[in-house]
Amino acid sequence: MRNIRDFFPFLTKPAKVVITMHQKPDADAMGSSLALQHFLEKLGHSVVSISPTNWPGFLNWLPKCSQVIDFDSKRSFCEGIISDADIIFCLDFNDLSRTKGMESLLVNSKGIKVLIDHHQEPQIQAFHFGISDTGKGSTAEMVYDFMVASGNRSLIDTDIATCLYAGVMTDTGSFRFPSTTASAHLMVADLKSTGFDHFMVHEQIFDTFLENRLRFFGHVLLNRMDVNYELNTVLIAIPKNDLLKFDIKTGDTEGLVNYPLSLQGIKMAAIVIDRDEERKWSFRSKGDIDVNQFARQYFNGGGHKNASGGRSSLSLEECVLQFNKILPVLADKLKGEY
Ligand code: 5GP
Ligand code: MN
Repeated sequence: MRNIRDFFPFLTKPAKVVITMHQKPDADAMGSSLALQHFLEKLGHSVVSISPTNWPGFLNWLPKCSQVIDFDSKRSFCEGIISDADIIFCLDFNDLSRTKGMESLLVNSKGIKVLIDHHQEPQIQAFHFGISDTGKGSTAEMVYDFMVASGNRSLIDTDIATCLYAGVMTDTGSFRFPSTTASAHLMVADLKSTGFDHFMVHEQIFDTFLENRLRFFGHVLLNRMDVNYELNTVLIAIPKNDLLKFDIKTGDTEGLVNYPLSLQGIKMAAIVIDRDEERKWSFRSKGDIDVNQFARQYFNGGGHKNASGGRSSLSLEECVLQFNKILPVLADKLKGEY
């Protein structure tokens, strides 16, 4: 993978560009992708953003989100676009397997693959150009840096600022996580100078729950939360029936895993959800507890040091047993001060 700076000359030659992101994109994946789409279109490129799967409805308000194609529901159409692309940007993931059914198409495409990402252990041989920086709190910050470093800061308008802000704000936990750097705040100051409305972004992302979703959170916190005070860990296991009963859709469980960390002394939270085809894990931690390594080693996943995910083909009950059996490997860190 060559340095992203070596890619800049390609920006000046109009090309057929595909932007893609990880499956079940979050606000950072979708916001970064749409910001880049606006930017590249201003430079005269023809751009299509493709998500490997559907995404949470609370992202639909993002400028141009209505143009994003869901690969799962338009496979043959996407196949043509991907194999015909001159350039393929891969944002907010670093391993092509995170694009699910798109993986082989991406591998076989003749397009130049460009990585912009902040996750651990990038599959660098899969990309021609790129930047991978785990020190960045969000991919949105890296897309901003890319725009500025390419000499095109003047193209950043309110739509681009809105999309980038959605990414940095959510991935830094509203500027709260230790990953929030001075440069993230400096970027936001610069974005604010375009006049975009940051209050609206928070409203659209956090204050658009439907009643069923809030009641589902209440139900889960009351009935599905297991607190282990000895190891300062919380495990939430959600059976499929709960999802059906409360009519829970893609993205409706987002944010739930963070609630247990508001308990005094709790250092790690895990949630496992019984999805149709698999059991999906999310892990969150504080301080020195590395849930990226934990997810990678035991739960077929990965992510960041303090936020990761994984998957399993075991039943929900087996997943719970497995977790409780493995958790003591972190006992020293979980029991100590941070
Ligand atoms: P979430 O729990 O919000 O789904 O994901 C937390 C972080 O872990 C995100 O950065 C996400 O990209 C990453 N992540 C979630 N699930 C997986 C997975 O199955 N594999 C890998 N490699 N990363 C994941
Ligand atoms: Mn991200």
